[in-house]
Amino acid sequence: MKKVDMLILTKHMYTMTGEGVGYLADHGVAVDGGKIAAVAPREELLQEHEAEKIVDAPDQVLMPGFIDGHMHTGHGILRGVAQDINNWMMEGMAPFEAQRSSEGKTCGSKLAIAEAVMNGTTTIGDDGSDMDGACRFIQEIGVRGNVSVRIREAVPRSYKAGELYEYDSAMGERTLDECLVLYDRYHGIDGGRIQIRFGPQGPDFVSREMLERIRVLAKERKTKIHMHLEQGSREAKQMEMRYGMRSIPWLDSMGYFDQDFIGIHLTDATKEEVEDLVSRGGRMVLCSSSIGVIDGVVPPAKWFQDAGGLVGLGSDQAPGNNCHNMINEMKLTAILNKVRFEDPEVMPAWKVVRMATIENARVLGIEDRVGSIEVGKDADLILIGLKQLSLAPLYTQPMRNFIPNLVYSARGCEVDTVMVKGRLLVEHRRPLTFDIGQILEEAQRLADEIGEKAAPQFREIDGKNAQYMREDKL
Ligand SMILES: [Zn+2]
Repeated sequence: MKKVDMLILTKHMYTMTGEGVGYLADHGVAVDGGKIAAVAPREELLQEHEAEKIVDAPDQVLMPGFIDGHMHTGHGILRGVAQDINNWMMEGMAPFEAQRSSEGKTCGSKLAIAEAVMNGTTTIGDDGSDMDGACRFIQEIGVRGNVSVRIREAVPRSYKAGELYEYDSAMGERTLDECLVLYDRYHGIDGGRIQIRFGPQGPDFVSREMLERIRVLAKERKTKIHMHLEQGSREAKQMEMRYGMRSIPWLDSMGYFDQDFIGIHLTDATKEEVEDLVSRGGRMVLCSSSIGVIDGVVPPAKWFQDAGGLVGLGSDQAPGNNCHNMINEMKLTAILNKVRFEDPEVMPAWKVVRMATIENARVLGIEDRVGSIEVGKDADLILIGLKQLSLAPLYTQPMRNFIPNLVYSARGCEVDTVMVKGRLLVEHRRPLTFDIGQILEEAQRLADEIGEKAAPQFREIDGKNAQYMREDKL
């Protein structure tokens, strides 16, 4: 008998191994020292192991936890203040963003991360500045973090049409320094549970010199570059004015793309540009719901995949999405791409589940640790309850209907248990490592303060949401 920490026994397991979803019936997993020690038929597991804890879950599905490839958790404090408008940044975000303190960012991160974990996310792919609070929370509650620290030189102010962004090299140094400090503080801790990435905000937001330095620093530290790319006409205009080129050809001319480059959104990229990026080994994260809400477009993820590239999913941010729920991302990715290509066979359910698990692990470069249920990987696992109105009835023949129902019907509340490295973060929907009540109370207090301070600028800008308030539409 081998002694292990835990046995999880299920009737239905999706391992995400192989090219599909890796379904196994009547199997279980042995967890020891935070890792998956065995995957075997349940009877065999019981005969061969003596476990401290046995989770017998016949009415639940066991699968790898979801991986969110791109989030701005610090924006959690501004949930719902910027959607259904044309100018997301200047009209929607600006009045609220100006009032978001460091305390507000950290509280927003707690809110967003707690929400994501309750919806089955085990890897938080965060991106932003002033990230120590978010990293500390990730460290404390035991979730996995894949955090890019934002580096920026473009001064954040309003610019006239045709005006080049003004670069402030001191800001560049400060933000680069934060990235290096957080790298030293958090990268690799707890057996690699937290990874720190370099996050230049976009090719138009940092100078060529800074981008080159970042590449050298990232290579020296064997970490990745995570960057918003081809985000629309504003970026294209800046690149055209400054370099006379579009972002992807320009970065390619610098030799910037390889398997350590993760491009976010690619909203505006042409098919040829996408194919060039794929041919260099670059990866992509797709934020279907956020880009749908903010820009009203469907990013070119299918082109990326058709060219042989890896695409993962991300939830982006709460002002314009408005949630951190990978089930929602899977659903919208499947539906929006079917609509865009007028073809119901595009982005089938099994594919988007892979994009939220094993393919996202490959995009982020953590596939040796997570993304599938395999011996030797970390036990980042979730159990999803089947006795739910949204998932019933269950068919196992002549076809299995769980994967389509997970994508098109589930909402997140079906996630029963969440563990990272074998540590339970949520058990029977009860969070064990964080206090939701406390987070909600703090968030409401800060939101009340932000709302009051943002009011004059909100009225002065007098955008769509101000109009909706006058017209009793909010
Ligand atoms: Zn983003």
